[in-house]
Amino acid sequence: MTPELKQSIESIAARYPWRRSALLPALHLAQRAAGGTVGHDDLVEVSKLLDIPLAEVFGVQSYYTMFNRKPVGKYHLQVDTNIPATLAGAQRIVAHLEKTLRIRVGQTTPDGLFTLSSVECLASCGTCPVIQVNDRYYENMTPERTDALLASLRNGIMPDLPPTAVHFGSTCNVLLARRGTQNATSLEVYKKTGGYQALPIALSKTPAEIASEVKSSSLRGRGGAGFPAGVKWSFLAKNTGKPTYLICNADEGEPGTFKDRQIMEYDPHLLIEGMTISGYAIGANVGFIYIRGEFAWIADILEKAAAEARSQGLLGKNILGKGFDFDIIVHLGAGAYVCGEETALIESLEGKRGNPRLKPPFPAVVGLYGCPTIVNNVETLASVPFITQHGAAAFSKMGTPGNFGPKIFGVSGHVNRPGTYEYPLGTKLETLLEAAGGVDGKLKAVIVGGLSVPILTATEAQGLVMDYDSCQKKGTMLGSGGIMVLREGTSIPEIALRTIRFYAHESCGQCVPCRRGSHTVESLLERIVAGCGTRRDIDDVLQLCTCVRGSTLCPTGEAFAMPIGAMVSKFRPEFEALVH
Ligand code: SF4
Repeated sequence: MTPELKQSIESIAARYPWRRSALLPALHLAQRAAGGTVGHDDLVEVSKLLDIPLAEVFGVQSYYTMFNRKPVGKYHLQVDTNIPATLAGAQRIVAHLEKTLRIRVGQTTPDGLFTLSSVECLASCGTCPVIQVNDRYYENMTPERTDALLASLRNGIMPDLPPTAVHFGSTCNVLLARRGTQNATSLEVYKKTGGYQALPIALSKTPAEIASEVKSSSLRGRGGAGFPAGVKWSFLAKNTGKPTYLICNADEGEPGTFKDRQIMEYDPHLLIEGMTISGYAIGANVGFIYIRGEFAWIADILEKAAAEARSQGLLGKNILGKGFDFDIIVHLGAGAYVCGEETALIESLEGKRGNPRLKPPFPAVVGLYGCPTIVNNVETLASVPFITQHGAAAFSKMGTPGNFGPKIFGVSGHVNRPGTYEYPLGTKLETLLEAAGGVDGKLKAVIVGGLSVPILTATEAQGLVMDYDSCQKKGTMLGSGGIMVLREGTSIPEIALRTIRFYAHESCGQCVPCRRGSHTVESLLERIVAGCGTRRDIDDVLQLCTCVRGSTLCPTGEAFAMPIGAMVSKFRPEFEALVH
């Protein structure tokens, strides 16, 4: 390891309250410097530098999928093959790459230039097929664009392919207000378009007044659970003598979900302002943005925006001269879906494997570094400036009772204009599908809240109101608002198999029902889809899904048991047609 690399790791470690938190960033740096894989000697160096036992460093490195344990080519081509990507033709891109490069998935070309991998969701559901090349995304890929990409890479250049349309729309103009504005990531444009007006208002009030306004707004957590943010804040342990931390959960990894990146990529100051106000309200002086590792370039956008805000006294020490200190550390994850669960995220931020913790205690009492901690999603925190500036009453003018405010819905799959659409909670599903250009074909089924929620048939989806309570009444969940549309002709057994493959791959392995259950359901569905299963296999899938529900440590068990159970129950004849 070079002295420069050691120095970089040292300076990263110095930013964190615990040096150990620098483990994931250190492994990212070491891997990049080594050209794709961290060797044993580098692991030893990292272990010494951060004073972490080597076995634990190895344990962490081997946990996260972004840390390669086998050598990879100069260009690592990773094709997202999860459901939205497959519906958009990802398998055609994989086949094209295999044919052109004369290798199979998992192999490297003899000249060491390319390694081809098939990976789980890259949060590009509206712009897939997507190929991640090292740290960079290439979206809306066609065979022709893939050929242009390969030709450029063969010349040693990471190309800028012609940009392709990313669809979006907004009737609320709160979260996607600057989506079409040029240079919207700059502080200057953010300010010119009304940004940083909420922060002085917040700092002129007491933290309790801001917290109370957020509570009155009934803002529900946009990460999936829909728990009211203000109520969550009120659970914070008081007078502990320990610091309070704020964490922004930007580990967007649920297939079908690609909304948080729209805020971070196109309006980073909205999140920074929201975090600063929220930090003030809960009494935190440090906030972390835990962002999924694949979004490395978005992490750069956030870092740049934070530096700009610091330079103008909007972040850091003595913000706006009001005596409030608050700073933000952007922290890259490394490819683990489970880290979207708040206690797993905290473990990961502490430089450990992302294994969920037993609850209670909840993070509001014992969270990051054993201190009271609030974990909120990107979209939740980005809603706080509006509430601060315009008040809870204005916020609750959007939405339906108990389900207030704007919401970004990501629409993917078989629609004509896949993209992100900001509408009030309580908007009809039909309206959102219309905004997304309508269904490309005849609607067969829809998954409305990310992959972990029960599927709805076309009949069940009729008239569906897209808010937390209405979705629950229909037997599904609003979740992240990631809507995946399936047209007639789509094989539900194949969708079920791809679903369970994702969860079997992502299970952290701590509890048996999830670890063994997911793999057993995967084998059963493989047999069924291959045409060599029996009716008994279908019953076993259903029985396993019932057993797993409620018997796992974190919601991941539930997250596959619910959708698979619903797919099999609602489309059983399709499964039966495949077995003997
Ligand atoms: Fe890990 Fe799955 Fe158990 Fe969650 S449910 S702790 S992901 S094994």
